[in-house]
Amino acid sequence: MSAYCQQGALAYFRYMMHKFLADSMVGDVARNMRILGYDTEYYSDMTQVDTLHYAITTGRIILTKNQKLCRYARDVCIIYAATTHDIMKKVIAVFNISTDIMVDKTRCTICNGEQRKFDDKKMQCTSCNKIYWDGTHVVHMRHTAERWA
Ligand SMILES: [Zn+2]
Repeated sequence: MSAYCQQGALAYFRYMMHKFLADSMVGDVARNMRILGYDTEYYSDMTQVDTLHYAITTGRIILTKNQKLCRYARDVCIIYAATTHDIMKKVIAVFNISTDIMVDKTRCTICNGEQRKFDDKKMQCTSCNKIYWDGTHVVHMRHTAERWA
């Protein structure tokens, strides 16, 4: 196996490993994680009980600014910090997440859907069909993501 193949397999494995659930207060965290390529669900109207139940039953890791949720950390993995920036820094450090944004791996920031190539300059969400121009949301995010590493 060439070094390239190994890197490709590792990159693919990286995206398969962890799934996240951003609680109702951290929609911006969900958006960031989707741009980094991670399956991250977010529901603005989800209660604390529903958040915990959903994370446990689907094996998702909770990302939150709500310290009260940490009481239940024995049943579910929770990443807590007081700010979006600190949540991103912590989740990236704990799960050894790369901040190199791979355009073909980013997920739809609206619905968490996977993206497929639409044409040479555009990607399209496979769920909601939103079109992303190459770089429209990624260029800005690359600068931001450097601060989380
Ligand atoms: Zn979508």
